[in-house]
Amino acid sequence: MTLFESVFAGNDAVYGLTENAINQAIETHGADKAVSFPNTAYSLPCYYAVTGTKVGTLAELKEALGVVKTLMTREKRTHDVFMSGVATALCAEFIEVLKYIDGAVPYEEPCYGHLADAVIRELGVPLVTGDIPGVAVILGKAASPEEAAALVKSYQAQGILVTLVGDVIDQLAEINYKTGANVRVIPLGKDVTSVIHVVSVALRAALIFGNVKPGDAATLMEYTMKRVPAFVNAFAPLNDVIVACGAGAIALGFPVITNQEDVARVPKSLICQTDVSKWNATSLEARDIKIKITNIDIPVAFASAFEGEIIRRKDMQVEFDGSRVDCAELVQTCDASEVEDHKITVIGPEADEMELGSKNSIAYVVKVAGKNMQADFEPVIERKFHNYINCIEGVYHTGQRDMQRIRISIDAFNAGFRIKHLGEVLYAQVKNEFDAVVDKCEVVIYTDPAECTRVRHEVAIPTFEKRDERLDNLTDESVDVYYSCILCQAFSPSHVCVVTPERLGLCGAVSWLDAKATNELDPAGPCQVITKERPIDENLGAYEDVDEAVQKFSQGALEHVTLYSIMQDPMTSCGCFECICGIEPFSNGVVIANREYAGMTPLGMTFPEMASMTGGGVQTPGFMGHGKHFISSKKFMKAEGGIERIVWMPKELKEFVADRLNATAKELYGIENFTDMIGDETIAEDPETLVAFLTEKGHPALSLDPMM
Ligand code: SF4
Repeated sequence: MTLFESVFAGNDAVYGLTENAINQAIETHGADKAVSFPNTAYSLPCYYAVTGTKVGTLAELKEALGVVKTLMTREKRTHDVFMSGVATALCAEFIEVLKYIDGAVPYEEPCYGHLADAVIRELGVPLVTGDIPGVAVILGKAASPEEAAALVKSYQAQGILVTLVGDVIDQLAEINYKTGANVRVIPLGKDVTSVIHVVSVALRAALIFGNVKPGDAATLMEYTMKRVPAFVNAFAPLNDVIVACGAGAIALGFPVITNQEDVARVPKSLICQTDVSKWNATSLEARDIKIKITNIDIPVAFASAFEGEIIRRKDMQVEFDGSRVDCAELVQTCDASEVEDHKITVIGPEADEMELGSKNSIAYVVKVAGKNMQADFEPVIERKFHNYINCIEGVYHTGQRDMQRIRISIDAFNAGFRIKHLGEVLYAQVKNEFDAVVDKCEVVIYTDPAECTRVRHEVAIPTFEKRDERLDNLTDESVDVYYSCILCQAFSPSHVCVVTPERLGLCGAVSWLDAKATNELDPAGPCQVITKERPIDENLGAYEDVDEAVQKFSQGALEHVTLYSIMQDPMTSCGCFECICGIEPFSNGVVIANREYAGMTPLGMTFPEMASMTGGGVQTPGFMGHGKHFISSKKFMKAEGGIERIVWMPKELKEFVADRLNATAKELYGIENFTDMIGDETIAEDPETLVAFLTEKGHPALSLDPMM
């Protein structure tokens, strides 16, 4: 069989199955039955992205199948093969959505099935920073569970996100291989049609980050080809259906690597590599993915894929817990003469001398010296410790400053991991990432309880207090420059964040100090200085300098941006924002929803629906993406009256920002416990109930001028 025949046959087979499944569903449920995937604002995301049409019922699904049929032309041309591949993928989406009828939960652990919009937004930043350098789709059955595990592990060690389809899922389960989003190995489902859930992620990325218009199939495919670094690894034997799905992947720019020897090869797109141990290298080369090598001398793996790994109490060798005993983590700027490069010292017992399962003290001081080092960079470096330590396989870190908790697993301990290796990791990563400012680095780790108490109370806490004082005094007015950040342009080509002391990047991960450090570390990099010498309107936060900068960095896509307004030239959103706020017209206020919130807001929209109003680097007056900490800023929509416009937030978010938000409200308006006046989902999910609540509480937004 030729490749044409195989793709066409596979496409026909899946089309036939889809047609039957839809007819049967109509017979069972009626044509008006609603169909949808959970937690997405994009209907059937693949069909919507390709055609621009939303499908809401079985009748519409049947109509949509007619549209799919028009893609299934049978000339022996590449275009026909690709379109048949796309048609196969769309059929797979139709089959999958039928599984979700009536709110059914068709996938059980360990499989995920459909992935929510929030997952894609979370993936935005790690994908642009290269923390996740690629996405592997592994499909079928390996020769043995061990072969499957070795392949998956090779990608994990490089930080690549792995998705699994088919028998490979059971093979990994058989040898108790850990899977899950937290270790970046996501089993999608055992039917081949479940592969659509990763395609759906790629296409929604184009809509969310790339501002691709639904229905613009050519731009969509260009986007996935250029900006989504995915590839497919398909184990032999391949049947026609898999080959047809593969054609769909290739149409989106994702190469397929297989060990099926008699497959018709297409250079750089359909590649035969009979040696599975070479799939990793072949795939990276075919998709042009470059991996940053991190060689650290420790007995376990070190990769961002392990960042979300959780070590449970029963699996832990030892624990260090700042909430119970004295702990601290600190960067200290020293004179070069006081630092011995790469010296790691442990003062106190090593892990071997600690009881199995015990809770201990730990304090590590990372001494750094460099002629370009500044005290302002200390917290920036320190904040990375969480990420560095979490990337160690079998080690888990939460918290920061003197409230960190670390667990070392029994497996890591048995592999030879010891406390001194924490020092190796901190040393290597600080030198690796901060080489522009750190010339020498030494790590002292205290585990002696008395020393930990001393370091915590006499060294660390006074340093933290001094830093907090400095941060409190850091305002937009007190600095001479702001910074741009264009990291997200990898996905959202015209998006520019303007980062100021009182307005961090909308991802929540880039503060003014971070941007400053990034600029000093890499002067030609993503963060550039923006002067603020030519104000146009300080209340709006409008500056000629800012306008010039955004025009330049957006390649002319943006002309004006204000820093403090959501109505007039608001800052753009790239799609990976932590929160989104939108106008609530009945109360003259704004509603804020965070990414983790899955429920309804009084706007009649969920977070994904609100989020779909903006994103892709476009300005949408009335809606704005932002970081969590911006909510308590004195500059939060200052032009429209500031934080007293906030009328509703999910309870969890309200609790998270309460201390800081209440302090700002007290300072600005003399209001005590402002958050008590703000609604949440336990109080109101519709505007009428919300306004009644706000009236009862005397919320200040009610007496402000309307925003529209
Ligand atoms: S600051 Fe803005 S551009 Fe930079 S990473 Fe965050 S969201 Fe992206």
